[in-house]
Amino acid sequence: MAFQIIEGCVNCWACLPLCPSQAILVVKPHFLIDSWRCNECEGHYADPQCASICPVEGAILDSLGIPLNPVGSLTGIPLGRRTATRVEIGAS
Ligand code: SF4
Ligand code: SF4
Repeated sequence: MAFQIIEGCVNCWACLPLCPSQAILVVKPHFLIDSWRCNECEGHYADPQCASICPVEGAILDSLGIPLNPVGSLTGIPLGRRTATRVEIGAS
């Protein structure tokens, strides 16, 4: 089982030194997780270190494709409010 970093990643480097498996790959356009190395931090930490430090909602998915930091989990802004605001300001 392994996690994934997807396009929301802003390449902030925060997760890189925390990974006990050296599974974070510094590549462009955004960092990735080596699925052969990532063991979800099992045996090292109770929580996945990359997701614990990541400042971006939705940038890291679990092995089922579910965001570990879903929309609103870091900002406290409910999904409905976020969507409405993006419409109001014309954000894509
Ligand atoms: S879940 Fe743990 S082992 Fe997997 S990439 Fe994140 S920090 Fe590394
Ligand atoms: S902490 Fe999150 S945003 Fe920063 S490099 Fe890692 S996955 Fe990307």
